[in-house]
Amino acid sequence: MYKIYVVGIGPGNIENMTFEAYEVLKKSDVIIGYKTYIDLVKDEFSHKELISSPMKKEIDRCKDVLEIAKTNKVVSLISSGDAGVYGMAGIMLEVADENFSVEIIPGVTACNAAAAVVGAPIMHDSVNISLSDLLTDWDLIKKRIDLSSQADFVISLYNPKSNGRTTQIQEAQEIMLKYKKADTPVAIVKNAKREGEQIVLTTLSEMLNHDIDMLTMVIIGNSMTFVKNGKMITPRGYKV
Ligand code: SAH
Repeated sequence: MYKIYVVGIGPGNIENMTFEAYEVLKKSDVIIGYKTYIDLVKDEFSHKELISSPMKKEIDRCKDVLEIAKTNKVVSLISSGDAGVYGMAGIMLEVADENFSVEIIPGVTACNAAAAVVGAPIMHDSVNISLSDLLTDWDLIKKRIDLSSQADFVISLYNPKSNGRTTQIQEAQEIMLKYKKADTPVAIVKNAKREGEQIVLTTLSEMLNHDIDMLTMVIIGNSMTFVKNGKMITPRGYKV
């Protein structure tokens, strides 16, 4: 049986990698992943065989991992954040057959990192929605935004906006405004827990006046969310 690790390396800084993820990378011979992620670990693991692979070649990357594992090298496929949240874990499990033992090592996902940076906005029921419609129909994404807004969930948006994909965040805002108040607190966190970290606390009606891109998480509160001392809080209901 050949061994493969799929490792979530956390949002960026080495301190936010889990101990287990660190240990697995330390014992790996080969670390493979999208170039930006390899760049995040290359200083710490410079003596390893590091393989950067291009974006949008996820299936090829997994097939490369199979070939490396067959040489009996310890191989880790890395994703930022948690590999099981819009990462490589599911694809690797789908591609590998019964000759491979695939172990998934959890990581701190961007949503948790961004939430901690701005306060405690996901203390209550929340959903993650990716605004990328490359692999998911936009109509389905809109339906999920609509129903989770209607049900007063806190909403964390992954992949909110790219250079070529700019209208989705506008439509998302319009849908959320059907159910959520205009002054609902919104956190926009760029590069959470890594170099270039930027935080904006704003509101649902104002959020598009700020810089949002593919390095950004957008967290929209529920009807109870408020800001105190510069921190965004979604209360659980304790009488403080
Ligand atoms: N597997 C990753 C998510 C990959 S999807 C995880 O668990 O975090 C990529 C999206 O995640 C980006 O477009 C951005 O919305 C978000 N993201 C990843 N790292 C981030 C960080 N450090 N700060 C803010 N957003 C981040």
